[in-house]
Amino acid sequence: MEPSVCGEDDMVRWFEDVTENAGLVQTQTLRQILELNFEVEYLKKWLGDIEIKEVDACVLESLYTSLVPLASHADLEPYIQRIANGDSGPILTKQPMTTLSLSSGTTEGRQKYVPFTRHSSQTTLQIFRLAAAYRSRVYPTREGGRILEFIYSSRQFKTKGGLTAGTATTHYYASPEFKIKQEKTKSFTCSPEEVISSGDSKQSTYCHLLLGLFFSEQVEFITSAFAYSIVQSFIAFEELWKELYIDIRHGTLSKRINLPKVRKAVLGIISPNPILASKIEACCRELEVLDWFGLIPKLWPNAKYVYSIMTGSMQPYVKKLLRYAAEVPLVSAEYGSTESWIGVNVDPCLPPEDVTFAVVPTFSYFEFIPLHRQKQDYNLVTDDFIEDKPVPLSQVKVGQEYEIVLTTITGLYRYRLGDVVEVAGFHNGTPKLNFICRRKLILTVNIDKNTEKDLQIVVERGSQLLSSSKAELIDFTSHADVLTQPGHYIIYWEIKGEVEERLLGECCREMDASFVDHGYVVSRRNNSIGPLELRIVEKGTFKKILEHFLGNGSTLSQFKTPRCTSNKVLLSILNLCTIKRVYSTAYAD
Ligand code: AMP
Repeated sequence: MEPSVCGEDDMVRWFEDVTENAGLVQTQTLRQILELNFEVEYLKKWLGDIEIKEVDACVLESLYTSLVPLASHADLEPYIQRIANGDSGPILTKQPMTTLSLSSGTTEGRQKYVPFTRHSSQTTLQIFRLAAAYRSRVYPTREGGRILEFIYSSRQFKTKGGLTAGTATTHYYASPEFKIKQEKTKSFTCSPEEVISSGDSKQSTYCHLLLGLFFSEQVEFITSAFAYSIVQSFIAFEELWKELYIDIRHGTLSKRINLPKVRKAVLGIISPNPILASKIEACCRELEVLDWFGLIPKLWPNAKYVYSIMTGSMQPYVKKLLRYAAEVPLVSAEYGSTESWIGVNVDPCLPPEDVTFAVVPTFSYFEFIPLHRQKQDYNLVTDDFIEDKPVPLSQVKVGQEYEIVLTTITGLYRYRLGDVVEVAGFHNGTPKLNFICRRKLILTVNIDKNTEKDLQIVVERGSQLLSSSKAELIDFTSHADVLTQPGHYIIYWEIKGEVEERLLGECCREMDASFVDHGYVVSRRNNSIGPLELRIVEKGTFKKILEHFLGNGSTLSQFKTPRCTSNKVLLSILNLCTIKRVYSTAYAD
């Protein structure tokens, strides 16, 4: 059955069915993609004039993987750029592209665009409904209930060629599928569209909290795309609760909400509720003493679970979330990317650290590059994998680590996603993946993704300013500090020569402003990542680091300065040797 028209049980049955023969479904999915797009410029370049319809599906699969090379975003970027500039010919897809998404991460220091079509929103709807079906088996919710969703659209804009661009979630919240999902799952978001798309995350958060409290009896679960948004929102709540319960009492809206559209929409929903306000006030006074332990069950007594991505770079937020949630279970959300959805959590009762994602074999054609770890380089962050030939989904092995490769209906062909996963087991014939890490990623606090190359570009920019004082950069490293709130990047510099503090401030600001990764920029703007910190270390610090590694058996020829570190010993050397700290003033206004 077509999954878009069926009910919850049918969704599960459909998934059980397609995963039973996942290998075959993959072969068919590839055939479908190629039949749809076989005349496009990119495929012609590699496949020539093969009559796709004439070729048997299995032969086509091996032909495709032997003729079309693996590609990185950098390889496809010239094609995507032409599309962005308005070339509507069949470049990557036969249907002209009208929308592009901004994926987190960058290509050589530039923002990363990826193709987005109606299919992208449809698979988003499908995976959300599928996940909801599995969740409701373990944690049934009441029909017609509310969801407290901490979700935010960012600005959509036009590319040079007139295509709409924005993040994939922004496109999704603006799509009909977002409304359809609420109707199909019979759960409705507390906040109206005006709040989700206000463009001011602080004002949106206040309204999400206010409406969440207003509908508190009806809230069935609490969610956000990434766990940090829930944590950030409740941290804000600890400061805002006195204003919030007054608004609930009088049916008013705090002056901090100054966007007319948002004010109108929210005031159209709320009404005075003095009884609820008194209850919230009493709960908050108790919670304050408990340092907000159990905030969720206390204020949302009918919430069945908290649902959000809690794996990968979200792991550090789980501890705080557990405090807020107390006995309310945490359910780790699905695995996907702007490029394609990948896997669904079919065991929602597992704690975040044990969660795996069953690959949905109809979404894209997936290949897996086996990765073998070399000897661990004393905790240095290096991409030290040896790669094997990619294998199809049907040939992956339990316990093996892989990099995921995607061929999507939206025009990406053998595209290296850059994620490292481990096969933890199987759900019928489809692998269940454990998310391990982002390959080559070194700096991340929440949704931001910066590689060693990004850091290098940024440091080069910042250190160019040193030349005006005849100083020079000797060496550098970095650390993503997620222990302080909000988390932030620290860049350590050892410099030769004297530099005034004012100039260091400029270098720091320049570096902060030079990270172009969309996730970073958005997070800096809404202060969910704090100002970049530049720490100057005393002369000889990096020599000490070298000596530390040599003392641990590393050889001089093998040694590379780690460009990012979380190694405790290294951090303690760096911090003991820090002689100056400056913070960026970028994004201050
Ligand atoms: P974006 O394209 O900006 O949405 O980022 C997608 C990336 O976020 C993926 O390639 C992963 O690295 C990461 N990601 C997405 N979902 C999960 C998840 N459930 N667990 C861990 N990491 C995830």
